Amino acid sequence: MATLIDGERLAAEIREEVRTGVEQLRAAGVEPTLATVLIGDDPAAQTYVSLKQSDCEEVDIDTVDPTVDAAVEQSEATAVLTALNEDPSVHGVLLQLPLPEQLAARTLIRQIDPQKDVDGLHPENLGRLVAGQPRFKPCTPHGIQLLLAAAGVELAGSHAVIVGRSNIVGKPLAGLLFQKSPGGNATTTVCHSQTQDLQAHTRQADILVVAMGHPEAIGPEHVTEGTAVIDVGINRVERNGTDRLVGDVDFEAVKERVDAITPVPGGVGPMTRAMLLYNTVKAASRQSGVALDIDVDTRLR
Ligand code: NDP
Repeated sequence: MATLIDGERLAAEIREEVRTGVEQLRAAGVEPTLATVLIGDDPAAQTYVSLKQSDCEEVDIDTVDPTVDAAVEQSEATAVLTALNEDPSVHGVLLQLPLPEQLAARTLIRQIDPQKDVDGLHPENLGRLVAGQPRFKPCTPHGIQLLLAAAGVELAGSHAVIVGRSNIVGKPLAGLLFQKSPGGNATTTVCHSQTQDLQAHTRQADILVVAMGHPEAIGPEHVTEGTAVIDVGINRVERNGTDRLVGDVDFEAVKERVDAITPVPGGVGPMTRAMLLYNTVKAASRQSGVALDIDVDTRLR
């Protein structure tokens, strides 16, 4: 039976650290502020934005929340981002995805000032991460790196297999785990929808991270004993007439075989949210020149 990797507990620890950072900033006259940009009325996007706003409130980070009409043109959306870039009272800019169809997410992400890109998705920030000089580590991969460290999972020399190659999870996570630095030094394999014989790869993993977006697609046949499994997936499914959240891993079956596993909910999700707060405080520190004595990465080995 696997050990449960508890994301709620670690996220609470990170929030405490963030709170300390916020106090230090406020004592120096800086009001850390995150702009959450919601374009349109996608229900999932609305939920995520309101959760992020209440997370900020909990740790005393201010928010501004420009809501933009679903029918907005690309140029108007760009203008909203430019105004936030130019506003010195705003330290972090988060563009909530998904966007309405007429908008090009890639182009809009490039409009965010890389110094305010607290999601870490701007190509400059992704490039810096791969080059081993991260400015903002994207929230989900950073949260996973810290979860692995907290669970005592040895990364150096291990084989990490990541299923999924999105810009938000798979690619930056690979960039962190293969890096020659603490929290890295793993041999890293990235699988995707064109991968032949997925099982043959996942069964070789010491660490298996799954970010496919397919409910319970990874079963016991994909894993071996001794593996640490990180389930990134969040899928809403109907079971016995009720709505449930499940991951990309068949938790009940896989937990019987592996060494450690994250639950859904309560694993990666809370960490993603906590890391956004951390990046916001870091952004405010850099922009204001107020040094903070918090560093979540001291946990990495
Ligand atoms: P994307 O849809 O952007 O990417 C999915 C990836 O999975 C793609 O690279 C795709 O391959 C790959 N894939 C799909 N099917 C298969 C398959 N059969 N075999 C191997 N690879 C496959 O998703 P995201 O990365 O944005 O999100 C993944 C999941 O994680 C979702 O459930 C999402 O809700 C969740 N999520 C959770 C977060 C959290 O905080 N817990 C944060 C972000 C996401 P290809 O590139 O070839 O299409």
